[in-house]
Amino acid sequence: MILPWQTEQWARLLAATQANRLPHALLLSGIQGTGKRQFADALSQALLCQSAKVDGVSVCGRCHACKMAAGRVHPAIFWVEPEERGHAIKIDQIRAANEFVQQTALQGDRRVVIVNPADAMNRNAANALLKTLEEPASGALLLLVSSQRERLPATILSRCQLLHFPRPSLQVALQWMNDQAVTSMASALLLRLANGAPLAALALATDGSLAVRQNLYNGLAGLIQKKIDPIKLAFQFKEMPPLSFVDTMLSWLMDCLRVQLGGLPNEIVNHDFEAEIVRYAGLTQLADNVSHLTYLQQLRGQVVLGLNLNKQLLVENVLLRSGLV
Ligand SMILES: [Zn+2]
Repeated sequence: MILPWQTEQWARLLAATQANRLPHALLLSGIQGTGKRQFADALSQALLCQSAKVDGVSVCGRCHACKMAAGRVHPAIFWVEPEERGHAIKIDQIRAANEFVQQTALQGDRRVVIVNPADAMNRNAANALLKTLEEPASGALLLLVSSQRERLPATILSRCQLLHFPRPSLQVALQWMNDQAVTSMASALLLRLANGAPLAALALATDGSLAVRQNLYNGLAGLIQKKIDPIKLAFQFKEMPPLSFVDTMLSWLMDCLRVQLGGLPNEIVNHDFEAEIVRYAGLTQLADNVSHLTYLQQLRGQVVLGLNLNKQLLVENVLLRSGLV
């Protein structure tokens, strides 16, 4: 099923399919958590469903093809994803996708390759994919999913048709959260924390990360008042996924900088911690926080690249810097 805010993109592709003008490569772009992967999934199912509905908005979900697609065992759909979350997509994975596209037994038949996230391809992998993009095989559709399009080489970008997924309006997002049984009061904060992306907001509500964030922010508030030892605090969070840890720290620091730069209270994203953030901003120097921000952004880049970092040291270093007054 496509999500309520994706009907326009869906209708556009449906019209292109009916007119036999579906491009051979699409780049599904937009911020994290707007449902691009789900859209790629639904599109591949719709293209292969044996009894697609006339409205084209939904696939039957019952035929053999739909069941195989849902179980990720459809022989005409090839998923390329990092072997581990946060790791790179390697050249061998793309070579396998290229072979799948070129299979003579399937020549001319509809088949779909989904690369998710495409920005996780390392340089060699991206170069390998370029071959298939330059010489598209008949019937093949490449779906590249990315929330960081700027990380993709220009040579890849120029060979894909862009399909943009903007975040839905607050009203649509709140309604959807409501349909997922999240209370409206929690939804507003969750959506704010997730930058307006509903699936990311729902993940925050269900995967326990909201509670971890709360503990971390309480820890930061204690750290600056010298009530907590940074090494002890680091020990508590050393098992937190590094990307979540860095992003949670960045969110706090960005809010602190907003306060220090004279922002309005409603600009604070973590408004449930407004008092603590204002206090932190009052006790820290703008210049230190700017340099800490640069440090965190560089660290984030290393984490995204999948560099093998010592998790405990990473958390310790970040918290020791945060405790400086
Ligand atoms: Zn079906």
